[in-house]
Amino acid sequence: MPNLPDHLLRRFTPETRIAFFTGAGISAESGIPTFRDKDGYWSKYDPMRLASVQGFEADPELVWNWYLYRREKIMSVKPNPGHASITKFQKLFPDSCVITQNVDGLHKQAGNQNIYELHGNIFITRCLECRQEMDVPMIFDPAKEGIPRCDCGGLARPGVVWFGESLPVQTLSDAMTQVQQVDVLFTIGSSTAVYPAAQIPFDARNNGAVVIEINPDQTPFTSHADLAMHAPSGVVLPQLFEELYAALA
Ligand SMILES: [Zn+2]
Repeated sequence: MPNLPDHLLRRFTPETRIAFFTGAGISAESGIPTFRDKDGYWSKYDPMRLASVQGFEADPELVWNWYLYRREKIMSVKPNPGHASITKFQKLFPDSCVITQNVDGLHKQAGNQNIYELHGNIFITRCLECRQEMDVPMIFDPAKEGIPRCDCGGLARPGVVWFGESLPVQTLSDAMTQVQQVDVLFTIGSSTAVYPAAQIPFDARNNGAVVIEINPDQTPFTSHADLAMHAPSGVVLPQLFEELYAALA
């Protein structure tokens, strides 16, 4: 599909600063269900019971079973050609980063660098009370073993951002600094429906960056994009990479 128009092609040099802003769509290409689609998790489950402090306090075992199920699911999948292409892009454009709404760690697994995980990481376990990261097994049986506790006595919880919680302050602030400085931002598989992260492509655009959308679906950002390619990232990014590699070689 890609064939970047000349005026966009000219914006890429080895010094070009690039951000890859990613959402659930890129993970869906690896086989991880999204949340908001009609077949997504939230069509079957109540988000407030499974992904809020109140829900956790009401039934920590239920919440842990849900996250353990998702950990196992994610462990069974692999990064896809979209993730792999980002690794190649980052070799060609060293001043680049990944800003993701995904918690599955697939970017890191694919070898991507400079990753900002705005919604945390499902494989991290934290103390509910003191927020300290805890070194406990990835998979355990809450019914048999109980839920691990921190030295402070607090219950272990998954290291993701729940409904009603703020995004991690430092990560968000570092990511926003990147967004203000980039020359090109790819918005990939993000529905641009969840704030404040959804603001990112708009901010990049307002700061003068070229913003290219890669998403099989239309989004609220589509009409604002410099270019929108409606196909999966695993199709578009490898082709884009080849095109830019040829142009810069
Ligand atoms: Zn603690």
